[in-house]
Amino acid sequence: MNKENSLIVRVIFVAVIACLPLSLENCSTESIEFEQFAFNGSTMGTTYHIIIAGRPIDAQERSAIATSVDSVLLDFNRILSTYEDQSEISLFNRNKSIHPIPVSQKLLRVVRAGQDFCEASNGAFDITVMPIVNFFGFGFEPGENRFPTVDEIDSWLQLTGCDKLEIGDSVLTKSDPRITIDLSAIAKGDGSDYIADFLLEMGHKNIFVEIGGEVVTHGHNKEGELWKIGIDRPTIGGAPGADLQHVIQLTDKAIASSGDYRNYREVEGKRISHSIDPRTGSPIAHNLASVSVIANTCLLADGLSTSVMVMGLEEGLEWLEDRDDVEGLLITREADGSFKEYMTSGFKTYIYD
Ligand code: FAD
Repeated sequence: MNKENSLIVRVIFVAVIACLPLSLENCSTESIEFEQFAFNGSTMGTTYHIIIAGRPIDAQERSAIATSVDSVLLDFNRILSTYEDQSEISLFNRNKSIHPIPVSQKLLRVVRAGQDFCEASNGAFDITVMPIVNFFGFGFEPGENRFPTVDEIDSWLQLTGCDKLEIGDSVLTKSDPRITIDLSAIAKGDGSDYIADFLLEMGHKNIFVEIGGEVVTHGHNKEGELWKIGIDRPTIGGAPGADLQHVIQLTDKAIASSGDYRNYREVEGKRISHSIDPRTGSPIAHNLASVSVIANTCLLADGLSTSVMVMGLEEGLEWLEDRDDVEGLLITREADGSFKEYMTSGFKTYIYD
């Protein structure tokens, strides 16, 4: 936790004005202090930012909140990080048994969500994609500086698919001892939901939780407005927030994005994306540059955005439009380098700019 960066902004609201349209905490007919406590840190190989607006929070409580959040996130890493040698997922990946392997309910819950995305996306989303992710250097191994042979791709296709894992009440069973799993596409979204629920349970109603770009919002910001979130234009190597495609406003919703513009590598002179199509055993090769999905949970938004990133524009847009619980923004990179955007019919209601 970077406590130096913790900041607290104090705003005096006249409660009678603030309460009427916004139903904020601590409503009364007298003036109240409406504060914002923001803190950030590192987790899951990226950063997190959390803002809590509402009643004043003293230094002791601020420190307790920050410590609790860090401890929850450490727990997430100990279970879900393929980058930690002794995490539960790493031990599972190294376990070569084809008999049921006992696992924690925390791991099982995220695996179950991953398997649901796999079924729903017809295998575009697939947590058994780990060997391909590692070969191309987007996992815990450094990766090769060459394209795979046909035989290598064939061998991965034997090890990937929704049917390669069986889920029991407290066990997972591999259909082949070499099967390994990667939950990186949904763990940050799940973590954002988890931290948001944790803060809500503590009584904080106005919160913004972001882990590596996956955001959950509840209530309002310190100005009593909806939370504003920038969606980056997918410029290759562009810094987060430097060039925005849109600003959207949200409350009681989550947003997650996937893209080809920040996490990529050059192999044999060709730029390859970290979004892998498990059905072909190769990185995606279409012109969809980014997908942002708004949903009721960040886990859902995160899983759908990666799935659509793999599916491509036509299939992905239609798939999102068919669901009535989500909205999506898809941005393509055109041959001349310009961007074109496509959105589901309800997405524009969230646009603020
Ligand atoms: P998303 O689009 O959300 O997901 C893409 C990722 O999902 C790919 O990188 C790949 O891992 C996987 N994937 C690719 N294709 C598919 C597919 N078709 N179906 C399902 N999954 C797919 N990185 C580090 O460098 N160091 C760390 O210490 C580190 N620790 C981490 C700990 C945890 C618990 C987690 C979850 C991740 C960690 N990471 C670490 C990974 C890093 O943060 C990833 O870049 C990130 O999780 C990928 O998210 P994204 O939003 O960039 O991409």
